[in-house]
Amino acid sequence: MYKFDAIQILLVISILLMLYFLFFTAKIRKKKQIHFAVLCLTASLIIWNSSVLFYLTFTQIEWVKALCEKLYFLSIILVSIAILFTGLIFAQTKIKFTRKHALLFVVPIISVIILFSNQYHHLFYTTFSLIPSKQVFGFYFIIHTIYSYLCIGIGLAYLGFFSVKNFGIFSKQALLIFFAIFISLIVDSFSTFNIFDWSAAIENIVFAVCIICFILAIIKFDFLNVIPIALQTVVDLISDGYIVINEDYEIVDYNKTFLECCPGVTRKGDMIEFIEKNCSDFDRQQFVHFLEESVHEQKKITFEMQKPVGETITYYMTEITPILRNDNHIGTIILIKNITEHKNNLAQVIQLNERLQSLATRDWLTQAYNRYFFDERLQQEIDRVNKKQTYGSDSCKAADNFGLIMFDIDYFKTYNDRNGHPAGDNLLQEVVNLVKEVLFPTDILCRYGGEEFAVICCQTSAEGVRIAAEKIRQAVENYEFKYQDKQPNGNLTVSVGTAYCSTAYTRKDDLIKIADENLYLAKNSGKNKVVFHQVH
Ligand code: GH3
Ligand code: MG
Ligand code: MG
Repeated sequence: MYKFDAIQILLVISILLMLYFLFFTAKIRKKKQIHFAVLCLTASLIIWNSSVLFYLTFTQIEWVKALCEKLYFLSIILVSIAILFTGLIFAQTKIKFTRKHALLFVVPIISVIILFSNQYHHLFYTTFSLIPSKQVFGFYFIIHTIYSYLCIGIGLAYLGFFSVKNFGIFSKQALLIFFAIFISLIVDSFSTFNIFDWSAAIENIVFAVCIICFILAIIKFDFLNVIPIALQTVVDLISDGYIVINEDYEIVDYNKTFLECCPGVTRKGDMIEFIEKNCSDFDRQQFVHFLEESVHEQKKITFEMQKPVGETITYYMTEITPILRNDNHIGTIILIKNITEHKNNLAQVIQLNERLQSLATRDWLTQAYNRYFFDERLQQEIDRVNKKQTYGSDSCKAADNFGLIMFDIDYFKTYNDRNGHPAGDNLLQEVVNLVKEVLFPTDILCRYGGEEFAVICCQTSAEGVRIAAEKIRQAVENYEFKYQDKQPNGNLTVSVGTAYCSTAYTRKDDLIKIADENLYLAKNSGKNKVVFHQVH
């Protein structure tokens, strides 16, 4: 008798505690799905424990006992389905109810129908008793039990797994949930396998304790205002990949984005070996150096990495951050950001800039510099000479002068008239390519206008300019151009005039005028000639 009294007292305490939690949870404003799941679970448990309490208390009143029998089984059905949904919601923060979820209610509904019509077929049970060995059950009870255990098992597994996943194995929440699962499993196995022939009411009390632990853990999460899985979901949804490694460079955790970037990644694998296999330009020593540096300096280290993907290369910005606890290095978090698009955009911008630069400074037909560029550069050169001649030493005065060469294709009009303008265009291009080859890379070849070209020979002596001018004339004379035999003198040639800038305060127009006049002289003295500047 005493044993029963103690159980009844415990049942009353557990019911009161659960009622307290029921009201506490019900009072929470802005309730989320998890709160409703917890409310259903607590309510089912209250019915379960109350049915046992009333069954034990009102032993003489038959209709109460009959009602309690039904409520006892009904509440087990409700408890199991409530635990399953609590686990599902806990794992996903919020679930969208679909037909799949409705299917979960099929067995419970059949159970309820069979339970309430039990007196006609006894498929559920024949004799009810809270002492397991005295119970006599029907065939359907096996289905009901398997289903309930499955629901409870899956629900508890979700709760346990996700509390560890989100808060770590040694967090208060995870320990609380494990403690609860552990004691409920032990007590449950004792009664299921009839190890002790005690009253099933013990199970009720243990279960109530277990559920109170869950609720404590869940409500504590809510106090932090973060539903546990939300953190994992956020981490999985962010577009940056992360991987956590311990101090031995062993992979501990990673998110979905990282897995998508590097499909072969596995927990417990070696991080260094993994990257070595996956990244083309991976420098093992440098990576280890970065890892060590981040720990030593206790700061973030950022660098770029590449990974070949088919024909293309994916670029990642990698950020290494040490994880320290009480100044002890316990691991490292590595963040990777896919910067391929950004890099490609940058390359396109650079290309576009180069193209714009070329369009602004080059002649579209011959790709020689244009008149605008010529004017600018000529002025710059004059300014430089001016400065050197005014302020420079004697040696730099001699070396820093420059020359201007102007040349014009002889009888170009004839070439155009006889061979057509497209052939004339091709000829202009050929002449430019040829002249570029014989000049120094520092010389600036420009199309001055029509078939007239100018060359700025930077930092060149007067003699040097003469040589350059003669080289141009000879190169054109000796080159076999198409249709050149149809030209008046049987060859395609150029006439050249030069000017030299060696004194301060030279004017641009004067320099051009000298070169142009010399070119005119070359034309008038029979063409295919160079008329040089006068050196003072
Ligand atoms: P000279 O020997 O005295 O230099 O006589 P020329 O016929 O070469 O000189 P002129 O100035 O009389 O004629 C220049 C010709 O160059 C006229 C024009 O049709 C041609 N020309 C100018 N620019 C272009 C061009 O971009 N493409 C082509 N095909 N012809 C051009
Ligand atoms: Mg000409
Ligand atoms: Mg001309």
